[in-house]
Amino acid sequence: MPNIEVYSKKDCPFCHKAKELLREKGQEFTETDVEKDPQKLKEMLERSQGRKTVPEIFVDGELIGGFDELRDLANSGKLDQLLSLQEKPKEIKTKLVILGSGTAGLTAAIYAARATLKPIVVEGRDPGGQLFTTTLVENYPGFPDGVQGPELMEKMRAQAERFGTTFITAEASSVNLSRRPLFIGLSDCCDLLTDALIVATGASPRELGVKGERELRGYGVSTCATCDGPFFKDKEVVVVGGGDSALEEALSVSKFAAKVAVIHRRDKLRASRIMQERAFNNKKISFIWDTEVKEIYGSQKNGASGVKLVNRRTGEEKEFSCEGVFVAIGHEPNTAVFKGQLEMDEHGYIASKEFPRTSVEGVFVGGDAFDHRFRQAVTAAGDGCKAALAAEHYLEGLSS
Ligand code: NAP
Repeated sequence: MPNIEVYSKKDCPFCHKAKELLREKGQEFTETDVEKDPQKLKEMLERSQGRKTVPEIFVDGELIGGFDELRDLANSGKLDQLLSLQEKPKEIKTKLVILGSGTAGLTAAIYAARATLKPIVVEGRDPGGQLFTTTLVENYPGFPDGVQGPELMEKMRAQAERFGTTFITAEASSVNLSRRPLFIGLSDCCDLLTDALIVATGASPRELGVKGERELRGYGVSTCATCDGPFFKDKEVVVVGGGDSALEEALSVSKFAAKVAVIHRRDKLRASRIMQERAFNNKKISFIWDTEVKEIYGSQKNGASGVKLVNRRTGEEKEFSCEGVFVAIGHEPNTAVFKGQLEMDEHGYIASKEFPRTSVEGVFVGGDAFDHRFRQAVTAAGDGCKAALAAEHYLEGLSS
């Protein structure tokens, strides 16, 4: 067995995802909570070549990186080689495949599994979906005091598993929906042949697309304040965006940072009134309006040092010093693999004239891959339910 070490902290969704992936691969690992032990935090920072993020994963003493790097290794098949795991079967034939493991995918799995369809859920790029990287969810019915996003998703997953769902940690890398059974090629593992398919691939965080953003991810640029907030204790940071996610990030990182500047491209926030009130009432949070980030300065050695800002009204450019940059500018649908196979709108959202049916018979859709309007956890759950019931009905028609 390889020696796997995971440096993590409590309430860190990416730490949780990484541990879940390792457990799915049947791996044991030692875990160190860097928040509890300053000495261990120092040790992690020394070993992780300048990165300031958790989790940090080491296999036999070698730095793998965080969850993103671990998942990319898994999706390329290299993780199995690294861990000396056995080869998987090449082809699996099944009745129902669900792509995506966010609220829509897991709700579909619960319904389909209870209907004894034995669904296979392909977990996708972001297991647990968007709620997995959220903190307190206050508007999901049934939780008067709110519920932590990761906790809710773990419960949904356990519920789907209990009724007989199989989970595969992989991404769909190719599909052929014009043949029967439908064909889905998975990145790390095998090909799936299925009678019906539910697309619940959701949406992923949008990138600014500016210089420094990718290079400094993990070195001062983050999309998860609950994970990385403690690395910015008493520092000045910026949050980019004007929606609920941006304000949530700002409120979360304000527990640690000295000052948080929210940079928004307009003069009005898109976020809900309640989140706006919380942010406006937080003394550490200030706002820079009508402004775009054009570049992120810094180096992997020394971390982020500032951003180049441009005022959209006046065109004035200035540099703003900060040591952390949290990007929260919305999401884009994860539907690229269906291009040319399923009808979609110009933004890549899958079209559904007769919801939850798509343009291909036997293929159903739900959640943020289709819904650009409501995008709520509870509407995604409703979509997942409808997609599973429609798929069940369709499969009954095939066998009668
Ligand atoms: P969102 O509502 O789409 O907001 C994205 C924000 O980023 C907008 O303010 C947008 O500016 C800005 N933006 C987009 N592209 C940009 C770019 N290239 N450069 C600079 N700024 C850019 O996305 P979200 O905040 O992720 O929320 C998504 C959904 O989840 C919403 O329905 C939200 O209510 C929900 N949500 C709820 C909670 C909660 O209730 N606690 C928490 C998180 C998310 P413009 O305003 O100018 O378009």
